[in-house]
Amino acid sequence: MSPHHHPRAEIVVDLAAIRHNVRTLRALVTAEHPTEHPTEHPAGRPVQMMTVVKADGYGHGMASVARAAREAGADWLGVATLDEAQTLRESGDTGPVLCWLSVPGEDYDEAIATDVDVTAYSVEELDEIAAASEQVGYPARVQLKVDTGLSRGGAGAADWPAVVARARRGEVEGHWRVTGIWSHLSSSDVPDDPANANQEKLFEEALALAAEAGLRPEVRHLANSAAAILRPSARYDLVRCGIASYGLDPAPGHTPDLGLVPAMTARATLAMVRTVEAGSSVSYGHTWTATAPTTLGLVPVGYADGLPRSAGNRAEVAIAGRRCPVRGVICMDQLVVDLHGDTPPPGSTVLLFGPGHDGEPTAQDWAVAADTIVYEIVTRIGGRMTRTVIDSERPEETR
Ligand SMILES: *Cc1c(COP(=O)(O)O)cnc(C)c1O
Repeated sequence: MSPHHHPRAEIVVDLAAIRHNVRTLRALVTAEHPTEHPTEHPAGRPVQMMTVVKADGYGHGMASVARAAREAGADWLGVATLDEAQTLRESGDTGPVLCWLSVPGEDYDEAIATDVDVTAYSVEELDEIAAASEQVGYPARVQLKVDTGLSRGGAGAADWPAVVARARRGEVEGHWRVTGIWSHLSSSDVPDDPANANQEKLFEEALALAAEAGLRPEVRHLANSAAAILRPSARYDLVRCGIASYGLDPAPGHTPDLGLVPAMTARATLAMVRTVEAGSSVSYGHTWTATAPTTLGLVPVGYADGLPRSAGNRAEVAIAGRRCPVRGVICMDQLVVDLHGDTPPPGSTVLLFGPGHDGEPTAQDWAVAADTIVYEIVTRIGGRMTRTVIDSERPEETR
């Protein structure tokens, strides 16, 4: 690559931002210590931090995010699938890892052999894990998920007694140790939604039944990023922070300013600049028409690279510190922006989104423009874009 080469379109991830965010969240959740629950928090044991790195680290690169999070004090890493857990182990991570989504017939052997905590939702899953543990000749680490109102995965209230009884039997028989019991909130981004308190109450009841069955889990957990930040009573022994670890706001309009820093920047190289006459319409379907002579810039990135097509005519980019609105619909490989009469040279950097330090929009701005949540913006961006991982605190280690 020549020193003057500009990539067509790239994602840049700053690990220093990830470390900063993980440290900030960790300091926040260990600072206060609510004890209003019947299953009171063991005195003096700090709330543990799980950094959730599923979906390739929310699009940031799982292995490098995982390393940065561990450095910043993440006690646990969280992933959805067994494959993701295995990828973490292959990348050299040896610490506590929890995964929570499997299908019938899943191969648990590797997870058991490498001390990955697997999650069971049902008696059937526990039976499968017991068979795998028998096969491997080694006890699994199993967490149980109870559904407390999301109505997604997990054991419902009717099945919970059978699940905890089966779990206890497997423990006595040496198939596993039940290391955790957990659930997931439906509405943590709306702090005063009564669903939050309701789910906490049902979680308490589920914990009590598990204790009666003889289970003594190491960790009980309920909170994702929004609840970890906004709801101290939901922190229990461990919080599972995904989106906030990447510097993105889990509950826009509710989250206090914690100084989290977005770790991802998406940028492209301006391909072409041209002026069109008044009356010219732009892009497929002619959804935008110039009312005066207009200088347009061609940005070589589109929905096949993960930009939301629905943000056409709504999103903005920044070129040389100036906001430029997208004109017309976003195409598969390219989009058109209004340069407001400026004529930046082709080859100029176009900031699609980033931390916002140079006048650029944020991923959250794109989420608003596309009528979605920021999670979808960062997990879908990619396509043909390259991803470069940097470390602004350690430039010599840039990978
Ligand atoms: C993805 C996920 C999280 C992380 O949620 P954030 O809102 O990104 O913090 C936590 N727990 C479970 C079960 C998840 O699936």
